[in-house]
Amino acid sequence: MRGLPPDGRVLLICHVNPDGDALGSMLGFGLGLRRLGVRRMQATFPGPPEVPEPFRGLPGLDLLVPAAEAYPDPDLVICFDAASESRLGDLVDRLETAGAALVLDHHASNTCFGRINLVDPHAAATSVVAEGLLARLGVPLDAGIAECLYVALSTDTGSFRFEATTPAVHQLAARLLATGIRPGDISRRIFDTRPFGAVRLFGEVLGRARLEPAGAAGHGLVWTYATQDDLARHDQRPYVLEALIDSVRCTAEADVSCVVKQTPTGDWAVSMRSKGAVDVSRVAVALGGGGHRFAAGFTGSGTVDEVVDRIRAELDGALTGPGRL
Ligand code: 5GP
Ligand code: MN
Repeated sequence: MRGLPPDGRVLLICHVNPDGDALGSMLGFGLGLRRLGVRRMQATFPGPPEVPEPFRGLPGLDLLVPAAEAYPDPDLVICFDAASESRLGDLVDRLETAGAALVLDHHASNTCFGRINLVDPHAAATSVVAEGLLARLGVPLDAGIAECLYVALSTDTGSFRFEATTPAVHQLAARLLATGIRPGDISRRIFDTRPFGAVRLFGEVLGRARLEPAGAAGHGLVWTYATQDDLARHDQRPYVLEALIDSVRCTAEADVSCVVKQTPTGDWAVSMRSKGAVDVSRVAVALGGGGHRFAAGFTGSGTVDEVVDRIRAELDGALTGPGRL
């Protein structure tokens, strides 16, 4: 990249608890930089250095290092899919120690914490922004780059089902598929494969879901929760819980859905979705998190009931408060 010393060290960072867009856009961009001749490069994310099982086949995983081994003072740091510095966890200090910081993202709530910020809130995924920059740098797509970007794009568009699925998204998908990647294999691995223990765990957790038709100021709220003990009883890793929200949000009687997931520290990571009546990113931001209008989250402490009470209060406020909907 222009301005990078010939032997410059590049550190790629994506957000904590990385999803398909975070890992896919980071590794796809990293493979692109490698094609440009960047040799000293690491990719990482904060927290335990564990890649969720569905992403263990991604090309470019050899770039990954545990956060503890990441360059302490890279020449360039590039952040992917992180709306704010807090999403970088302990790696946030690299914004100070790096020679330059570039932010690639698509959250409307992005705080533009880099020196250069490529943030497109209209982009369906961070991978759209990453591909745009790779094209401007003259990097041709190959199957490795394409698979990473396809995983990212299909994750954040819900397999091309969400509103953000524009003609440009399909055109990008077409360019990615033209490299020869296999969408059936990729989708099965990413979306349609989970251990039997997770199937049983889902049965239990969905069985305790609660529907509150009067919730969200009458638009309806459905929610459930999963504890560390649930995971332990079924011998499952936390990543399996990420797919739960997709089973909960299909509830016809509720506009808003929530899954409250206990973290190893005893806090609760909350996933929220809306079908359109409620801007859940406002609720998430009010409770210390962030996200998009129809998909947002935050981390809270206390009991499940306390966390859900806070969500109920914010949801009612979001719909009735001054200057709101
Ligand atoms: P998910 O529910 O899939 O974890 O996240 C949905 C959206 O909310 C994503 O865009 C993600 O960036 C955002 N999000 C989820 N959890 C948090 C959080 O704890 N803090 C912030 N700032 N955003 C979050
Ligand atoms: Mn994203």
